[in-house]
Amino acid sequence: MPKKVVEIIFYGGVKEIGGNKILIRDKGLGKSIFLDFGKSFELSRMYYEFPFNYPESIEELINIDAVPPIQDLYTKSETNFENDPEPTIDAFFISHPHLDHYGHISLLSRKARIFVGQGAKNIIEVGSKLITRKTSPELNYNGLKFETFKTGDEIQIGDMVVKPIHVDHSIPGAYGFIIYTSIGTIAYTGDFRIHGAHKELTEDFIRELEKEEIKVLITEGTHVEFSSGYNEEDVRRKLLEVIDETKELIIADFGKSDYDRFTTFYNISKQVKRSIIVDPKRYAILQGILKIPNIRTKVDLMDPDILVVRDEKKRPTKVEKEILNTIPDEKKISITDISKNGEKYIYSVFFASSRDIKKVSPSRGSVYILSASEPFNEEREISFEKLINWLEFFGVSMYSIHCSGHATPNHLKRLIIHAQPEIVIPVHTLRPILFRNFVNFGDWRIPDSRGSRIVIE
Ligand SMILES: [Zn+2]
Repeated sequence: MPKKVVEIIFYGGVKEIGGNKILIRDKGLGKSIFLDFGKSFELSRMYYEFPFNYPESIEELINIDAVPPIQDLYTKSETNFENDPEPTIDAFFISHPHLDHYGHISLLSRKARIFVGQGAKNIIEVGSKLITRKTSPELNYNGLKFETFKTGDEIQIGDMVVKPIHVDHSIPGAYGFIIYTSIGTIAYTGDFRIHGAHKELTEDFIRELEKEEIKVLITEGTHVEFSSGYNEEDVRRKLLEVIDETKELIIADFGKSDYDRFTTFYNISKQVKRSIIVDPKRYAILQGILKIPNIRTKVDLMDPDILVVRDEKKRPTKVEKEILNTIPDEKKISITDISKNGEKYIYSVFFASSRDIKKVSPSRGSVYILSASEPFNEEREISFEKLINWLEFFGVSMYSIHCSGHATPNHLKRLIIHAQPEIVIPVHTLRPILFRNFVNFGDWRIPDSRGSRIVIE
């Protein structure tokens, strides 16, 4: 009988927000899986400056520790995947479709088994079709095959069983995992919150954890410090107040896949009798999200008050062209119309650039609302200061109204106390020590650097 030992190796998500790549190597069962295979924004910030300087090869990414040096893990080609190796890792489980959790699956051998929720599959597939510049192997998602799961499924990887349970996060299709291994049950939270529009999803996950005897809990801890404490309802109330008081254009900056925030803005637009404007990209992602079976809140995209901006100066991708060709003319709106009749609209943008703002040239008294969810990224920082300067130039004031996709400190603690794990491993946090001392329950093992290995017998 092989010895019952599980090695957990943290190739990302260690003392950083995101970039989770957690290898579970069960020597007892002879099976290995990755929990998430995300992109580290921290490393991107350290080494690259998109679009001027980007990863040129997989070797380069291995050399800077952005991806693990594991044999037969990666694709050999960018077009023909027939000669890709049979990976020694049996499966990849993606918790949710944010880049810091799935971004690097683009590099994997096309023979890899990748498991995702249906919602995540839709979002990843639409997202990959919207990439304009395929400059780097990091951005090539062609040829990947996904196997989908739903909450409560039991996926057999040899004798290892992985059970995904839905959680609430700032994007649809988010899951935590319960994994039955030779040393007992390991649970992984992915990213979660209990203050969002669908907290019942996370409550389901917590109930499942309570039923299990958890040997190891791997948990996120993003907002163990400086949680805003606001929930989606607080955000809705504040947004309504600001939008109601504004007489000119509202520019709403929020995540393209933050569907809950979209529905919040959409419902407000109805109340204040403005139309909501999206760009073809957001429209495509919304279409993908609305194809998810059992999506909790349904918005009818054919509502004549959801308009799609037609920007003559922009070169659209195939998907964007398709959208502009298929929607009726009365749903399209020009940039000029937005500038002239700002008071009628909520113009939704995503990481607004100075160019977006210059094009619209909003009238004085317009309001820009930053209502953005993570993941933050490297491009943002560079351009944000310039954006603010342009907003100042146009006389557009700024609000920040947001609640995060991540649990508050007390909610993090609540999940851990309910799960009653023997061992706790924090990931996706800048303050693991604070997290441990605050929760003050269980035997904490804190990975100290990228590549840290924790052995459980
Ligand atoms: Zn994350």
